[in-house]
Amino acid sequence: MTTITTSFEFFPPKTQVLQDALLKVAGALAPLKPSFVSVTYGAGGTTRDRTHALVDQLQTQFGLRAAAHLTCVGTTRGEIDMIARDYWAKNITHIVALRGDAPDMSTPYVPHPDGYAYARDLVEGLGKIASFEISVAAYPETHPEAKNVQDDMDNLKRKQDAGATRAITQFFFDNHAYLQFCEHAVKSGITIPIVPGLLPISNFEKACEFAGKCGAHVPKQLKKTFDGLVPGTDAFKAAAINAAIEQATYLKKHGVRHFHYYTLNRADLVMPVCRAIEG
Ligand SMILES: Cc1cc2nc3c(=O)[nH]c(=O)nc-3n(C[C@H](O)[C@H](O)[C@H](O)COP(=O)(O)OP(=O)(O)OC[C@H]3O[C@@H](n4cnc5c(N)ncnc54)[C@H](O)[C@@H]3O)c2cc1C
Repeated sequence: MTTITTSFEFFPPKTQVLQDALLKVAGALAPLKPSFVSVTYGAGGTTRDRTHALVDQLQTQFGLRAAAHLTCVGTTRGEIDMIARDYWAKNITHIVALRGDAPDMSTPYVPHPDGYAYARDLVEGLGKIASFEISVAAYPETHPEAKNVQDDMDNLKRKQDAGATRAITQFFFDNHAYLQFCEHAVKSGITIPIVPGLLPISNFEKACEFAGKCGAHVPKQLKKTFDGLVPGTDAFKAAAINAAIEQATYLKKHGVRHFHYYTLNRADLVMPVCRAIEG
């Protein structure tokens, strides 16, 4: 039997009610024994304390290996280094190192004058602090700000050369784009695993909106699948689960062995997909 490993991404909730709900979700997903779970860092570092607390809690309460996302936005190197040292001291040894975006996404990103300018610089900085496991972001359909496909690939290579040991992709629905990206990466000297980030769809309209912002292509077939379906209904949920299983099955057939799920803090869609793919 092929061994499939998974990881789950959560975001830090804003209220105690949502926090309690997320802990239930984490408890439901923990028996799937993910390789790690990760917790996002709000735009501009707005969730700094909540990210930290949640990572700590997932690790201590559920015995999950938790990774903290960390971005460069609006923060000095000194502050980031302090956060990283704090994580290391608490036995949080896996960081997802990111550049981040301007808090107001409509304005261009500007590096902090005393900060780490790009993810590559952050990876290098983290490496000087401790021997963190470091994951970075990758873009099968190219980062919207990249000059071109090769420029984006070169950037990923720089992150690898600076010490990243895994890339996790932006979500995508076009498997062909991901597989082509992986082939191109190998030809560009990228040897770290490029883990596909999969988004089970809980709201098709919102997923399309987000896909538009990050340049992810939404295939016609997927549009057809969700046409006329109302989010929250059983029919919608069944379609979402089937679509995610279909996507992951195809990738598994093409050699993928680790799947990273953007859970949106829900277990109901992710759980059946994991069970189907691991079985
Ligand atoms: C798996 C994953 C998790 C994420 N988690 C979070 C999160 O928790 N919080 C959050 O705020 N965002 C998160 N993001 C979004 C991410 O912050 C944005 O996509 C951001 O725009 C780019 O971040 P990066 O780390 O890929 O940047 P980088 O790898 O630094 O590069 C992004 C772009 O910047 C430009 N660039 C890079 N280096 C240079 C250079 N030396 N000179 C000039 N231009 C350069 C290039 O155009 C490049 O394409 C995540 C994305 C992914 C895929």
